Amino acid sequence: MFESNRDYPPPVDGAGCGNEPSSSPVTTWIADLSSGRALQEIAADTDAGLINRLRVLEELKAAAAAAQVRVAAAFDASVRAKDARSGIPEEHQGRGVAAQIALARRESPARGGRILGFSKALAHEMPCTLRALSEGRLNEWRATLLVRETACLSVSDRRLVDREVAGDVAGLEGLGDGRLIGRIRKLTYRIDQEALVRRAAKAQADRYVSCRPAPDTMTYLTGLLPVAQGVAVFAALSREADSLRARGDERGRGQIMADTLVERITGLTQADRVPMEVQLVMTDRTLLAGAEDPAYLQGYGVVPAMWARDAVRKAGHKERTERTGRRGAPSAPDLWLRRLYTAPTSGELIGMDSKARFVPEALSRFISTRDETCRTPWCNAPIRHRDHIRPHHLGGRTSSDNLQGLCEACNHAKEAAGWRAEGIDNPDRHTVAITTPTGHTYQSTAPPLPGT
Ligand SMILES: [Zn+2]
Repeated sequence: MFESNRDYPPPVDGAGCGNEPSSSPVTTWIADLSSGRALQEIAADTDAGLINRLRVLEELKAAAAAAQVRVAAAFDASVRAKDARSGIPEEHQGRGVAAQIALARRESPARGGRILGFSKALAHEMPCTLRALSEGRLNEWRATLLVRETACLSVSDRRLVDREVAGDVAGLEGLGDGRLIGRIRKLTYRIDQEALVRRAAKAQADRYVSCRPAPDTMTYLTGLLPVAQGVAVFAALSREADSLRARGDERGRGQIMADTLVERITGLTQADRVPMEVQLVMTDRTLLAGAEDPAYLQGYGVVPAMWARDAVRKAGHKERTERTGRRGAPSAPDLWLRRLYTAPTSGELIGMDSKARFVPEALSRFISTRDETCRTPWCNAPIRHRDHIRPHHLGGRTSSDNLQGLCEACNHAKEAAGWRAEGIDNPDRHTVAITTPTGHTYQSTAPPLPGT
């Protein structure tokens, strides 16, 4: 199906934009998968032929996933061995491995950690699952389920489940996600009753609250809670809604529950007077001239121009405008809007500078606004640190050019041996080059601002 004796057209894109020369047989072959010739072949194929292609490609994806597992595990082992030889204590060996895997796979560092855990589990503890993946009988997601569902078992019990489930070639055929999980759990509970208890304890430790954008300038506030607490919160909100409606409140149940949630957590009674500082970045033409350039609301993302104008109007006189380095008024328990000017040509935020190592509040806010989220490529985690790209003790300035917003994990990863960061001259947008211990370089460019 994918003969190798073809005349390959030269790759159209990809040349010169990566770290690796794109001339290996594999990259040429990958380019061929979507070459003009391949597209013609697809168009000319029979329906049965198209279905065959789908299956082959599906198995290829699984086989590629298995190969990535082996490569990631080998990289981890190699880095650890090197660390051990240079006398690094065992608990610090392998630092930065997950971050490098993430960059190579174009994933967030958090995801890189999960990929590394998955790879090591398969490579060292679940040989049958890895084999089924490399033969295309399991896809990557189902292999992930096998790893996840056996994470609380001892290595020998895990191998047992691996053999029973993934070693049974005929049994895997036609097994969907739900039945696969069911089969693993049945075995798990039979082998190790205690696993159930450990799973529950681990699940409780993973409780969290998150906030992510929903359509139409709404947001999902999600809490993953132990079942009793979650049910108690929901019941309290329901009771309040029922009691208010019985007293003539005309809002819907859902509306009252949502308003009550906000009131009880923020301590304020009006849903539109939330005690937080809202940072809204917009162009002057959006605010004053009714232009339609979207604005950026920190912690949420892009918002329509009309919504931004409306928010400013509601905030009324409490709006503060900020230019280079001037400090705003102290916070008040109300909706504050801070407007940061963007330079008229490039849209770059007007820079700031400070002599101290310590990053002043206004500059720190400026970095958060410019970078939006952690600057590591594909990370997107909230900014927790304003990091000196060139360290202060090496003469790095405390200026907007030499600072970048990083999350906790990425700030930590950057400190590991062999990592380097340097500012790159880019008149349009702030750019940093990150070099990893293997010598691979990745560029991080600040996101475009409103009006660009
Ligand atoms: Zn990060």
